[in-house]
Amino acid sequence: MDRDFNRVIKSENNAQYDKRCSLRTDNPKKILVHRVPYLMTATRLGKVEIVKNRSIWIENGTIQDVCGDVEAESYISKADLIYDASLEGGVVVTPGFINTHAHSHMYLMRSTLLLEEGEDIDQTIAAMPRWQQFETDESMCIAAIGDFTEQQKYGITTTLSQGPSFEAIELAAEKTRQRAFNAVSAVSNSRPQNTVALVEQQIQAKRNVHSIPAVSIHYLYKASDETLREIKRLVEQYNILFTFHLAESEFVRNACVENYGKTEIDRLEHAGLLNDRTICSHAIYLHEKEVERLIDGHVGIAHLPTSNAIHKSGRFALELFYKRGGHNRISLGTDSVISKSRLDLLTESFQTKLTHLNFHALTYAELFKMMTINAAEILGLSSVGIIAPGYKADIAFWALKDRGFIPYDEKNPISLLGNMINHGGRITRDLMIDGVFIISNRIHNFIHETRLLELVQAEHMHIREKFREL
Ligand SMILES: [Zn+2]
Repeated sequence: MDRDFNRVIKSENNAQYDKRCSLRTDNPKKILVHRVPYLMTATRLGKVEIVKNRSIWIENGTIQDVCGDVEAESYISKADLIYDASLEGGVVVTPGFINTHAHSHMYLMRSTLLLEEGEDIDQTIAAMPRWQQFETDESMCIAAIGDFTEQQKYGITTTLSQGPSFEAIELAAEKTRQRAFNAVSAVSNSRPQNTVALVEQQIQAKRNVHSIPAVSIHYLYKASDETLREIKRLVEQYNILFTFHLAESEFVRNACVENYGKTEIDRLEHAGLLNDRTICSHAIYLHEKEVERLIDGHVGIAHLPTSNAIHKSGRFALELFYKRGGHNRISLGTDSVISKSRLDLLTESFQTKLTHLNFHALTYAELFKMMTINAAEILGLSSVGIIAPGYKADIAFWALKDRGFIPYDEKNPISLLGNMINHGGRITRDLMIDGVFIISNRIHNFIHETRLLELVQAEHMHIREKFREL
């Protein structure tokens, strides 16, 4: 990495604590989040609730206690850091949101394919490699730092990123501290040289990685039976997740039948991949019986209503999942910057509500679960997505005195959740991952954001000039 890249990274222990925080040691491990006016979380039983006046005690990245403010007094003398959540109108805390479908390496492509140009998804996919041939591991890493830090500003602490470069996502996850699944493409749209063997080498070579290895393919119709068998082997041997874009267009559905004489669902089943280690994005062009097979197989769904609308791909049949009781396996994703206006899940849950309004009335609690516990379950993460003892301290802090929340019913604070989804999609005040403040008072503690924007812009123009010379 060159000098410019290093300029973007702030030095270790650079966290700037503002006046809410009393810090007693550097690198605090015992943290009291004191006097939280409203704590919003799903419970282990799947109920979404908002409780008033709670405090959270965290040790070494794990939540140890969630208690009343008075009981929390006993933690004050032990704490390395006390965050007073009641100051300046207070905050609403939620678990960090979980994004089950992103292409973080594509961040530099913002403005390359204009959202309003009206191509359909098949034309867009065909055009992308023309740009992507000029991307390097380094440019994809810069892109992913841009992507992850934007997601963090919107309260997202875990991301599954699907793309061609293991290295780029790994480095970006390490530098931004994002919890990331690194679903490297064995059959890539932009890098034809990627293979299952290459993915396996990367998994084997990395012992102490920051990101969690996973395997992906772009579309099923581009993967041979042999490739699917090998993917099945990797999933079992390394206990990893597999993800791909399922039935995103009629073309994709038909191409699979033409190439292999079988539908995508039949091929998945035949390869032994119709199970809870598989996550399908989009999942649009499916018959009801195929949806039932996905549900019975406990396959995870990354629902992407904005992407599906922008690319005129079609509508995901969410109501069938409710009809068959498969709705707990539905999560939400951002997709990439060419498929969504901003890398945020609150606006995606609002879009989900609107998309299905005439087919199934979704409650705000259901939408909240898609962003938290459903996503954690699909990713096989048993210790994120909830604020409770034993869970990782991945927490988003949202200013209560904000147009996204106010006015709300103080006697019925669940109205804050409806407000957050209908009027929110705003920037978090503070963000914690694994018990470390990643963002404090809207400033990133590990990435120098103005320098990052300069670098993103320079790298974008560098690729664009090459693209023009074509
Ligand atoms: Zn995608």
